[in-house]
Amino acid sequence: MKHPLHDPRSVRKLIKEHQFFVKKGYGQNFLTDDTVLDQIVDAACERLAGSERPHVALEIGPGLGTLTEALAESGFSQVVCIEKDAQLIPILAETLTDHPHVTVLQADALEVDFAQLPFAPGHALRVVANLPYYVTTPILMRILESDLPYDRAVFMVQREVAERMVASPGGKEYGALSVAVQYYCQSALLCIVPPEAFFPPPTVESAVIVLDRKKEHVVSDVHRPMFFRVVRAAFAVRRKTLANALATHFGDKAFVRKCLEDASIDPVRRGETLSLEEFARLAVACSARSV
Ligand code: SAM
Repeated sequence: MKHPLHDPRSVRKLIKEHQFFVKKGYGQNFLTDDTVLDQIVDAACERLAGSERPHVALEIGPGLGTLTEALAESGFSQVVCIEKDAQLIPILAETLTDHPHVTVLQADALEVDFAQLPFAPGHALRVVANLPYYVTTPILMRILESDLPYDRAVFMVQREVAERMVASPGGKEYGALSVAVQYYCQSALLCIVPPEAFFPPPTVESAVIVLDRKKEHVVSDVHRPMFFRVVRAAFAVRRKTLANALATHFGDKAFVRKCLEDASIDPVRRGETLSLEEFARLAVACSARSV
């Protein structure tokens, strides 16, 4: 390969050759740390070895192709990437020229139709991304709520977002994002990544998070909209008791009191102390009393 992309000097040379200017507005911080790269790829490949199905990776925001190349060389039979920045497409054509099983689509990950992605039939899918920080949550939620048949996602995100994703009830990091992520996935923090691992370095620390998709959810699909409604309401005003926060949202104190009673939840607790199971009980109680 002409450009060993984990070396910041090569990255500088490559972007200079292409007269490319890094776009802060697109969250362009390119990973240049081999160790972190290996950790991401190892997590992305874990438990795929025994599977008979073709292993496919979906990468959001390939950038210069550093992670893409590492994925392409680690046993995935196909790597499909979605990159928003049209100016990176000719660079990717160069850096990934030796990897014909990589497909780069120029598109916005917030708009692309995941159902139309050109995956091989019957594949085992992993989603991998060093996510652009300005749109981490919308991209993350779009993937979690999608029908993409992945069983694991490995994401680099801002450290404090990662800590919110894995947070347990009772702490200040625990909020609507923690519940949403943990509704869909088992989440684990793999490693903390310092700014020097990127070119250009971001102003904040990053972290790699591993999300293993749950086969069963804490509430059925029927109760899911109410579950998320209750979660949003409970965290909308963190300093309020659960009873008051929910009453503000539902506009009916008596209804909320009865629902909390049905779910055996103390009305003076705060939303941030509720486990997923308790939110589920409350959502089922609210649904039952709403009909
Ligand atoms: N994967 C590369 C790496 O690890 O070095 C680049 C990661 S960089 C943090 C984020 C990448 O996402 C950039 O290439 C950026 O252009 C791209 N990007 C930003 N917004 C996007 C969007 N809405 N859809 C797809 N790609 C996007």
